[in-house]
Amino acid sequence: MTGTLTAVDRVMAEIDAATDEMVDFTVGMLRIPTVNPPGDAYVECAEFIGRRLESFGFEVDYPVAEGRPEHTPSHPRMNVIGLRQGRSMRPLVHLNGHFDVVPAGDGWTVDPFGGLVRDGRIYGRGSCDMKAGITAAMYAAEAIRRAGVELHGSIEVSGTVDEESGGFAGMAYLAEQGRLSAERTDAVIITEPTDTDRIYIGHRGVYWFEVTTRGRIAHGSMPFLGVNAISQMGVILEEIRQRLLPALKSRTTDVPVMPPDARHATLNINAIAGGQAVDGIQTPCVADICRAIFDRRFLAEEGFESTRAEIVELLERAALESPELVYELRDLMIVHPTHTPDGASVVSALQQSVQAVLGRPAVLAASPGTYDQKHVDRIAGVPNCVAYGPGMLDLAHQPDEYCVIDDMVQCTKVLALSLLSLTASK
Ligand SMILES: [Zn+2]
Repeated sequence: MTGTLTAVDRVMAEIDAATDEMVDFTVGMLRIPTVNPPGDAYVECAEFIGRRLESFGFEVDYPVAEGRPEHTPSHPRMNVIGLRQGRSMRPLVHLNGHFDVVPAGDGWTVDPFGGLVRDGRIYGRGSCDMKAGITAAMYAAEAIRRAGVELHGSIEVSGTVDEESGGFAGMAYLAEQGRLSAERTDAVIITEPTDTDRIYIGHRGVYWFEVTTRGRIAHGSMPFLGVNAISQMGVILEEIRQRLLPALKSRTTDVPVMPPDARHATLNINAIAGGQAVDGIQTPCVADICRAIFDRRFLAEEGFESTRAEIVELLERAALESPELVYELRDLMIVHPTHTPDGASVVSALQQSVQAVLGRPAVLAASPGTYDQKHVDRIAGVPNCVAYGPGMLDLAHQPDEYCVIDDMVQCTKVLALSLLSLTASK
């Protein structure tokens, strides 16, 4: 017995006492440059996490995404997953973080892979998105053990690959293998950066598509003898600008997407290429091909079918306007929106814990972009899933990315409290 301290007090005290250890562990992960693409140093990082999980009493294994095309001898797709059983297997709460990071990019004033700790912050690519979140998940579980609190249910912690490129060899793979499933998993918390007090309950949908226009080549001095594919793409772009974009802006979802501007449907032109290569030697030719890639983010209320139908209609209308227009539409990627159901236990557990630790109510939000919740929901069939973790979402993918150490500690406490309530007997 530890005097009159309650179990919760003891767990909170263990987290405070472990702060330096948590910083060191995060720095250790940041120094492993798990850059994706191409997917560097995954084995090293998976084993770094796995060794620590083992020392925390987890049974650890390393699912490798055999058979996925991105899993190659030079860039193996290795995940790590640890299970610590309580008195009973269920309820089982799964905490997940991806350990891949986007490339550093330009504009850094510190070493992106140096793990600098300064002014209460940990700097480095992946500090907020989302290696600090992995630390928070692991130490939330460990603080419970150090405090001598025996749980009824069980805790699973995973570190997964490739979230930044769709998560197919990571969370999707674990779900396909049945490592996460409605038959064994009761709740999932993905510790992505959510600004400490936000709980992400889903995301908008994605429709990436490619449009190709085809013209007819002719001598550039007599363009009237050919059909210019770039000009034809211009007709489509003009349709988008004049009619589609205002329509998208006028649609607003009831889902609390943050930032609020992302509550509207959106479309981004990702890429365009037509005619001769700009840096190549030029010859006088009418461009006979033009290709463009579009990124349409759709609302739960729109759904995918009507989103795609609207694009088909737009192309047909452009073809009426310009009888010479010849085009092809190709679907590149479709992600359906996800939304954690009202009344989900993982949401109420986190809400209560945020209130208890931070002294203010949690904000329920949805994400403009997608994250691994889609795989948990659609493949594993576990809708009782949210994202909650340390770090400011705005700093993700930016130069001089950092995580505030205090935020990491607070989030760890929120996660630990939530684990205590979610693993209580059903
Ligand atoms: Zn992330």
